[in-house]
Amino acid sequence: MADDDIITSGKPTGLPVIAVVVPCYNEEEALPLSLGRLMDVLDTMARRGLASVDSYVLCVNDGSRDNTWQVIADSHRSNPRVKGISLAHNRGHQYALLAGLMTAMPVCDAAISIDADLQDDPEAMIEMVEKFRDGAEIVYGVRSSRATDTWFKRNTAHAFYTFQKRMGLDTVYDHADYRLMSARALELLSEYGEGNLFLRGIIPQIGLETAVVTYERAARVAGESKYPLSKMLSFSIDGITSFSSRPLRIIFFVGVALLILDVVMGLYVFSAYFGHEAIPGWTSLMLSTWFLGSLILIALGVVGEYVGKIFMEVKHRPRFAISKRLM
Ligand code: UDP
Ligand code: MG
Repeated sequence: MADDDIITSGKPTGLPVIAVVVPCYNEEEALPLSLGRLMDVLDTMARRGLASVDSYVLCVNDGSRDNTWQVIADSHRSNPRVKGISLAHNRGHQYALLAGLMTAMPVCDAAISIDADLQDDPEAMIEMVEKFRDGAEIVYGVRSSRATDTWFKRNTAHAFYTFQKRMGLDTVYDHADYRLMSARALELLSEYGEGNLFLRGIIPQIGLETAVVTYERAARVAGESKYPLSKMLSFSIDGITSFSSRPLRIIFFVGVALLILDVVMGLYVFSAYFGHEAIPGWTSLMLSTWFLGSLILIALGVVGEYVGKIFMEVKHRPRFAISKRLM
């Protein structure tokens, strides 16, 4: 069979249907370029017999204020393999992504999420699908180097991942939201009912077999970033506080450490008192300030432990995930 026959045949081939999910917020400039390149990669996959000719691109318009939806609708008219959904208002990248993944779940074998600006190399999708066909259920796209980043950016990013890890949030290093998930992984993801969405934290918790594909991160194809530094910082704080109550526990340990310091402080205060170096009232004030301070922190830490438990309970996360059955 000639290479092109596979693309044009339109018959079910038993090959996996891949959905490429693209969240779009004010991307009228980038989309026309990106859609062309994404379709090219899907065609390459079909030609190599990796993915079905029914594979498609699903654009999620995240309440854009420009002509993004118009661009999606026009593309769909000329090529029905470009599909689209439009959110009623701007909900943010993570929610747009989830909307797209959940829409694609029943009508794909695997979904790949990628940004509309193509900063993540679309060619890496081919390797992702190869790993998926070799049995991986989740394939993470990881940036191979930060050669184009400044020294400052590289090191702050590194410090940030380490800090998050210490705070109890485990994410894949240098992985953003460029990844493949099998339909099964998507089903497990759909069990997470939490409102405060941080996909990079949830997906490693799903389990299943994972693989990694590395690529070079490029500059935006067009338009400008929708993620200024302030949004990135609050995103990261959101990440830590939706996955871990460790900051609360730290309060307790600081309280205990202060209580131990109290003893040292007490010795010093008493020696000053007995050495007649202390003015009247200083000794009792010093002792009570230190002692009460540490008691308050310990009490807050204890309350924090319970708040942390409630916080985890209200998320109603799935308590287990079955990956195989022999029944
Ligand atoms: N995005 C979105 N909703 C938003 C902000 C961004 O869907 O409220 C999309 C955006 O269109 C792009 C992706 O999220 O496809 C990543 O945004 P961007 O490239 O601006 O972020 P950066 O790469 O600069 O961190
Ligand atoms: Mg970008």
